[in-house]
Order: sequence, then structure tokens, then C-alpha cells
Amino acid sequence: MQNYSIGVDLGGTNLRIAAYTREKSLLDTILLPTRLKAGRDAVVEDLCSGVETLERRFSSQLTLVGVGIGTPGPLELPAGRLHHLPNFPGWDGFELKAHLEARLGRSVIVESDANLAALAECELGLGRTLGLDSLCMLTLGTGVGNGIILCGKIWDGAHGMAGEAGHATIYPDGPACPCGSNGCLEMYASATAVVRSANERIAGGSAPGLEQSEGSPQWTARTLAHAADAGNADAARIYTEAGQALGIGLATLVNTLNVPLYVVGGGLVQAWHLMEAPLFEELNHRSYIYRLTAPGSKIANGHPRGATRVLPAELGPDAGLLGACILPFLDLKRS
Ligand SMILES: [Zn+2]
Repeated sequence: MQNYSIGVDLGGTNLRIAAYTREKSLLDTILLPTRLKAGRDAVVEDLCSGVETLERRFSSQLTLVGVGIGTPGPLELPAGRLHHLPNFPGWDGFELKAHLEARLGRSVIVESDANLAALAECELGLGRTLGLDSLCMLTLGTGVGNGIILCGKIWDGAHGMAGEAGHATIYPDGPACPCGSNGCLEMYASATAVVRSANERIAGGSAPGLEQSEGSPQWTARTLAHAADAGNADAARIYTEAGQALGIGLATLVNTLNVPLYVVGGGLVQAWHLMEAPLFEELNHRSYIYRLTAPGSKIANGHPRGATRVLPAELGPDAGLLGACILPFLDLKRS
């Protein structure tokens, strides 16, 4: 029988559970709201019932190789324990892996969602397209997620907590971040951040182009990008600043990691064209490793691994779910 896996993407808004094969990709996906208000146990029950529904549907024709679970971080490994999830009140210290295994009666693999998005981008997206097995990804969503893949494997770090570059300090005196620091990358380059920035500018009177008449809908990351595209200079400035923050953050990552590929994904990447120029300006200025190895550089031209590339993601919003689905297959290969 052919092998299949079950992947779960536990998000703050949606809970997605999918069956997957290497040949056919996603076979079936269950989409549920994440019932955070109903409490931890209710969410765990929804998740496990979804896994069992798919198992009943597919296990007569296919062999289940494993269940991969993606959750927001920080996640402690190998215990599979959650810590300080900003959008999951009451989950601090929760033994997610142990609870799921007890309820399902089988082992599960738990990983942070940003790591899984990076894994999927490496295995099924840009990594595959470019023939590369190492990359660093930033996922620009509600916050800024980060995942590092080295030689085809997630770099978890000592405690499972590697890949938190969303909390790299960009401006030391910047706005307070839920992580406890100030001026983190996610305070500038997330969907939440661009909307907050717009509202602050309106309140401070520094963005007349963003002021709206009474009763108009609130700005969103998407409507701000549309306004910038239509020539609104105040909206464009917000994306310029997001691009600059990304360039500063990426410069440190390029100088530290020297992996061949940096991928920018998540919902905000739809505004890549607005962020690209300021991003590369900062990256060129702040990373000599980037200048030495950028496309067209002397080192890149003669080198078997080519240039350092910074590109928008190839996979869309399914990246984290796909990563959860392929994780059991990679585990199988290694064991
Ligand atoms: Zn932070």
C-alpha cells in the first residue's frame, strides 16, 4: 500500500488538518475554527477528532506513516511543550505532544509553524526549484515567523527554539513587543505592524493621506498596499519602512548564516514590490557578505553554489500545513 501522512496546522484563527501523499499532495483538508475561548481541551479534542476522521477515510487504502503538528512558537523540544503563546491564553507550559499522544494512542511529531513553512518551501517550493537544501525563511503574518533549514533538516537549536529572528532588535527604542523587548522586526514588518503604524501616523497628524471620513472601514495591510499602488505617498512610506526593517534583519541573518537562499513569505509578501527596493538598499549597505556573494558578484559567478538569493516565497498560505504533512515522511527516511 502507498504511504500517506496527516498534517495539522494549529493557528490562532484556524485549525487545519490534512491527509497527504508524496504523489498527490493534499488529498483532503478539514478546516475548523480554533475554539480558543472554549479552552485547551476543546481545541485538542477538535484536533484529534479531525485526525481520526481522516484516518478512517484513508487507512483502508493507504498506510499512515505519521502525524505532524505545527504550532505557534516558542515550542520546547523534544518535550513538545508550549511557552508564552501570545494569542493562546492559558496554554503556557502546556504539554501539547504528550496530550495528543495520550489521546490519539500514537506518537506525533510537533514543530513550530514557521519552521514547517520553511521546510515546505525548501522541499516543495523555492528550494526544489533552485536545487538548494538550505535556506532561511521569514513569514510575515500577524507576527514575523522564522525558520532555518540546514542540509534538508530543520535547525531546532538546543531547546527547539531556534529561528526566532522575528524578535531580532531592529531599532532599540522602538515600540514594545509582546516578547518583552522593543523594536523587534515583527513590530515593523508584520501585517499587524503596518496597520499599527498607519493608525499611529493618523493619530499624530503626520499622514494626512491616510485620514478617512467618519464611518470608513479601518485600514488593513491589504488596503494600505492598494493605496500605495494607487500613489498614496503616506501608505507607500509605511511599506518602505517595513522593507527597510526587513533589509536590516536580513543583513544580520546573511552575515550569520551564509545560507544560499532567504525566502520571504506570509500574507504581507503580496506587497513585496513595495518593500523590495528599500530591503535591498539596506541589505547591500549592512551586509558585506551579501555584497560579496550577491547575484552578479565575482564570488557568485565562479562558485558551484551560485549567489546569495533573497526571494518572495513560492508556496502560499498552505506552506505551514504542507510542512506538517511532509515532516513524517522525512522522519521515516532518517529512521
Ligand atoms: Zn519581540
